Amino acid sequence: MDQLEHNITCPFCWQVLDILIDPYQESEFEHFDYIEDCQVCCNPISILVFHDADGGLQVKAEQGQ
Ligand SMILES: [Zn+2]
Repeated sequence: MDQLEHNITCPFCWQVLDILIDPYQESEFEHFDYIEDCQVCCNPISILVFHDADGGLQVKAEQGQ
């Protein structure tokens, strides 16, 4: 299966980034999160992936630790 491409905004430098979401993880868990370093400013972004009420995929990006 192909990975899903998603746009997020870095919470540190506000650059729009393309990230890839593994569809295997998506089907395995109701929601999951992980840390990905920003491609621009290298700060740790906490990425939360979950489904909304309509079953759509939602991606949230917050400042990681
Ligand atoms: Zn950044």
